[in-house]
Amino acid sequence: MTDLLSSLAAHPLVCDGAMGTQLFARGLNSGETSLLWNAAHPDRVLAVHEAYRQAGCQLITTNTFGGSASALDRHGLVPRMAELNREGARIARQAAGNAAWVLGDIGPFGDFLEPLGDMTVEDLHAMFRAQIAALMEGGADAILVETMSDPAEVEVAVSAAKDCGSLPIIATYAFQKSGPTEFRTMMGTSVEEAVERAVAAGAHCVGANCGTALAFPDYMELARQLVRAAGKTPVILQPNAGAPQVVGDQTIYNATPEEMAAIVAPLLEIGVRIVGGCCGTSPTHLAAMSRAI
Ligand SMILES: [Zn+2]
Repeated sequence: MTDLLSSLAAHPLVCDGAMGTQLFARGLNSGETSLLWNAAHPDRVLAVHEAYRQAGCQLITTNTFGGSASALDRHGLVPRMAELNREGARIARQAAGNAAWVLGDIGPFGDFLEPLGDMTVEDLHAMFRAQIAALMEGGADAILVETMSDPAEVEVAVSAAKDCGSLPIIATYAFQKSGPTEFRTMMGTSVEEAVERAVAAGAHCVGANCGTALAFPDYMELARQLVRAAGKTPVILQPNAGAPQVVGDQTIYNATPEEMAAIVAPLLEIGVRIVGGCCGTSPTHLAAMSRAI
């Protein structure tokens, strides 16, 4: 299989979509951490990966979003950190075979770095490094640092990934609107600073996933700003399935696969190189997006 970064330079790629909602549909309880299923129900996690693979996704993301020791601590699962991450990568590898790349997923550790919180850069670095080592052992081809708000946390994660070897590193932030055409992370970081710091840390591809209350026109504008800030570095965008609708006490995203597919061509025209999905997306959405590419 060719190298991910050279493929990306040659043509745009399709990443996969949401994992959590797919697992809830297969019986995961809302209090449960989905990582447990990498060991308890590997067949169900595999089925989701396979559905995305069949939808045409070339990048398959491991089910390890809350897999840092810090995030697993809330579930009393720190002793199983290496096992659950390794298994997560192994299952994704099984679905991807030699026909897709496996992105080892790293989500936020769940608190603030010093001085806002108690976590030191050294401790966080060691935690991310251990998680990444387990993902690599399970067969990850690249590392995806995602849904980030704090560029300092991205710097730590990227540096931990670099310490583990020469894997491609992708870093994405979650943005919200801070003006009609202005976006910031929850920590107040601008698009420009977020991108610059991720690239300076050594990320090979940068961009955004998820986001708060963003509609498709917002994602277009965000994509323009990301591409401008990233310069020669390729940009990834994994939008939610449209703007959130609040129904009762639930937030749902209900853009149709056709509506999501319709944004693919404009995003590629803007210069985005990897498109995928976040909240509310399913293999059906990704199949439509993949056809659009
Ligand atoms: Zn999301």
